[in-house]
Amino acid sequence: MTGRLERRRAIVTGAASGIGAEIVRRFAAEGATVALLDIDSDGARAVADACGGHAVVCDVASPASVADAVEAAQAALGGLDIVVNAAGILARQLFETIDPGLWQRLFEINLRGPSLVIQAALPFLRLAEAPAIVNIASLSALRPSPGTAVYAATKAGLLMLTKCLAEELAPIRVNAICPGIVETPMTAGFMADPATRDRIEQANALHLLGRPADVALAAVYLASGEARFVTGTQIVIDGGSSFA
Ligand code: NAD
Repeated sequence: MTGRLERRRAIVTGAASGIGAEIVRRFAAEGATVALLDIDSDGARAVADACGGHAVVCDVASPASVADAVEAAQAALGGLDIVVNAAGILARQLFETIDPGLWQRLFEINLRGPSLVIQAALPFLRLAEAPAIVNIASLSALRPSPGTAVYAATKAGLLMLTKCLAEELAPIRVNAICPGIVETPMTAGFMADPATRDRIEQANALHLLGRPADVALAAVYLASGEARFVTGTQIVIDGGSSFA
């Protein structure tokens, strides 16, 4: 049986941990060859050692680092069909306490980063047969929650970037995924509190906690030919917490 991403060559940022690492595993299982871009080079190498692929150090906040990493990735893969932007940072902090340095970090990693990666990848994606971009935004892009104003604003920006690029870059397909809270190292701090964990679980219609695989399987679909008529949209993966 052939995989859904057979012979496809993919860059995944944020590939060392959490959702990005699970996307690498699922892409590899579906036959893709993957370049794992992350600022955490040891973490990316560990994931690559476990499931194949090329680990490439990359700080998405740095234009020079992104240019070098995307060039190295496409050279190692022999071209590029898919880009997944999963690198990101979270700050759960009241708006009035966010200093300009943290504001800038959130902006540079969560919004400008994906934009730089897409720009660097474009010349290679334009040569591909069925190119696709998947941006990992957030439910925060659609719904406010306390202490996430700047994070949410970067994710809302990423969602609109997705929609604008779907129009401007067609036939390259550009889509986003908006996960609710998913258990990863990013959320481990507040999920360690049993009461918070229980509250999060009860806050969605299915009373489940999100897992990286829930997001990664949607990324496989959006990157694959099964989504050939899907662009400029988002898949919300939140157990129903946005209507519960
Ligand atoms: P994570 O912390 O487990 O992984 C994030 C990865 O991004 C790490 O490997 C980290 O090294 C990498 N990274 C951070 N800064 C970087 C930089 N400057 N350059 C390159 N890589 C960098 O987090 P996660 O939960 O897997 O999050 C993945 C994505 O999903 C993020 O964009 C996050 O905002 C989004 N998201 C997560 C959740 C959640 O509940 N976990 C919900 C909605 C959206």
